[in-house]
Formats: sequence, structure tokens, C-alpha cells
Amino acid sequence: MVRLRARLARSQSTLGKGLLELLSRDRLDDDVWDEIEETLITADVGVAPTQAMVEELRTRVKVLGSRTPTEVRGLLKEQLLTQIGADTDRTLRVAKHGERPAVVLVVGVNGTGKTTTTGKLARSLIGDGNRVVLGAADTFRAAAADQLQTWGDRVGAEVVRGPEGGDPASVAFDAVAKGMEEKVDVVIVDTAGRLHTKTGLMDELGKVKRVIEKKATVDEVLLVLDATTGQNGMRQAQVFAEVVNITGIALTKLDGTAKGGIVISVQRELGVPVKLVGLGEGPDDLAPFDPEVFVDALLG
Ligand code: GDP
Repeated sequence: MVRLRARLARSQSTLGKGLLELLSRDRLDDDVWDEIEETLITADVGVAPTQAMVEELRTRVKVLGSRTPTEVRGLLKEQLLTQIGADTDRTLRVAKHGERPAVVLVVGVNGTGKTTTTGKLARSLIGDGNRVVLGAADTFRAAAADQLQTWGDRVGAEVVRGPEGGDPASVAFDAVAKGMEEKVDVVIVDTAGRLHTKTGLMDELGKVKRVIEKKATVDEVLLVLDATTGQNGMRQAQVFAEVVNITGIALTKLDGTAKGGIVISVQRELGVPVKLVGLGEGPDDLAPFDPEVFVDALLG
């Protein structure tokens, strides 16, 4: 996986400079506070977390009287870390159960980066010495299984796929069966992200999960969310969160947005921690999410 710090530093995900400048002004009147609020909301931090942060900052600044740039940065960093949840457990649940592989289900709207994230995650797990089987449970588009196959070939993971238009749950079952037979460490199942109807989606994902659970446990349900789609993407993500029990978020395309604040709003709205971030299209462009490093990068 790439170093989060280095990659974020080169991305556009900084919201710090403007904020630090605003907070360092001699006079912090209502107009300046409004501007601070606007900067945070523009960066997709979300209205409620922004208001909470601004209120806390106002109080802190008042207590301090005069502020040095280091103090200003410290205040802001503390607020951002509080909102992000510095102590939240973000460990990926990929530990084997005795002989049985861990199972990761990857869900989300099409185009968000599910297949790419599945491939990158496999690469990272293999790099750590694990053996991985991939399940191409998006049987609705032949191209989706081909794309996963390409990733599998690239990173050295066997790919289990079914006939086009076949039953996604049956592919998921076969992938887990294959993983058990070959005693691999992790099985990652890439699913279809068709947002046709909520009940349709629920039936489909519910069945995939139930069928896997005949053989193993689903340890991690990763929701893939595209950081560039902002609040819009969030509404779609919410539907997934309602139909399946999400355990972690993989926030993709963070390399292509100045709206890094989405990390805060997404966790708040979905109640699930961001565990992974996507920082590019390459096989190594995935990093575990580290709040401290992330906030430092945001502050520029
Ligand atoms: P899926 O339909 O959800 O499986 O999405 P794909 O995995 O096919 O990804 C859709 C597009 O987003 C592809 O062109 C990927 O290369 C690109 N993509 C995925 N993750 C990232 C990322 O972290 N950064 C960038 N810049 N592009 C990404």
C-alpha cells in the first residue's frame, strides 16, 4: 500500500491553508466565522460537524485571547481529529478462523471503484503473505468479471466467476468453497452495484450474504464510496447501509478531490469508520486510513 502521507501531500485534498489563514486573523468577527464555516462545508465536512467544530473553535479561541499560528493549527487539528474519531478501531477483519478463510464482501454503487478496490486490497493482502481468492459476484456485466480477472492475474489471486447473468449468490458460494478447499487466508467477493430498487438490492445482497454464511462467516462488509461524488454519493451509500450491515468504508478517488472533509460526513452519516482510502488507479494506490496522517495532510 502507498504511504498515505506522501500521496495526500501531492493530492488536492488540503483544506488547511484557507482555514489556517482565516483563523489567524487578528479580529475574528462573525463574517470571518461564516467564512470558516463555508470553507468546511465546501470541503464536504457536512453541516452538523461543521457547526460543532466552529462552535468549539470559537470557545477555544476566546479562552486563548491571542493565538500563535502553532496554536491555531493545534486547535484545528484537535477538532478535526475529534470529528474523525482518532481512537476508532479501523482494523480490517481479515484474520482466518482456524482453517477457514476470512470473507470480505465489497459493496457499493457501480463506478465507485469496487473492482479496483478489490484488486488493490488483494494485492496488499498478498503482499503481507496471504493467499487470496476473488469472487466475481457481479454477474450482470461480463466486463465486470473480466476486469476482476485482469486484477486477479495482475496480483496473483485466483478468480472464481460464473456465467453471465448467473446467480451472484452462487458465485459467492463457489468462491468461498474454493477458498476453503485451497485453505487460502482471505476470500474477497466483489458484488454488483445496481441501484434498481431498494428491495431488489436488499434481496440480492441479503442472499449473497446468507449463502456465504452457509459455509463461512462474512467478516467484513466494505462499502466503497467515491469521494468525488460528495453528498450525492452519500445518499446512495445510505441505501446500501440500510440493506446490509456495513463494517467499514473504503473511500476512493481521494486523489482527485479537494473535498477531503467527506471523511467526516460519511462516517457521521453512516456510523461506520473509513478503513481504507483509494489514492489512484494503480495496484498500490490503496492505504489504510490513518486519521492523524490524514488531518496533517488536510492542514497542508
Ligand atoms: P466499480 O464499477 O465500482 O467496480 O468501479 P471500478 O473499480 O471499475 O472503478 C471505476 C473507475 O474508477 C475506474 O476507472 C478506476 O480506475 C477508477 N478508480 C477506482 N479507484 C480509484 C482511486 O482511488 N483513484 C482514482 N483516481 N481512480 C480510481
